[in-house]
Amino acid sequence: MIRLVIAGIIVYVVYRLSKSLFAPSERTSKGYPRGKESPAIKGEDLVKDPWCGTYVPISSAHTITLNGEKLYFCSKECLEKYKKEHR
Ligand SMILES: [Zn+2]
Repeated sequence: MIRLVIAGIIVYVVYRLSKSLFAPSERTSKGYPRGKESPAIKGEDLVKDPWCGTYVPISSAHTITLNGEKLYFCSKECLEKYKKEHR
């Protein structure tokens, strides 16, 4: 009797697993549309380069921490120049 229950559970688990294997393709097309990627990039925080005043996306900014303050720069050149001035 217990064996039958275990067999039933295994069959159920296998059934659920095979279902979840096929489900992701359906879920990704629904839950994660391709268009969702661009708003994430667009909605990204822009940070101001204190040296040249350019706004740069936080992910591509060059960062340094100066006097406990985090600063973002558009390029390494700006970073170095700013660092030289504020030493
Ligand atoms: Zn700059």
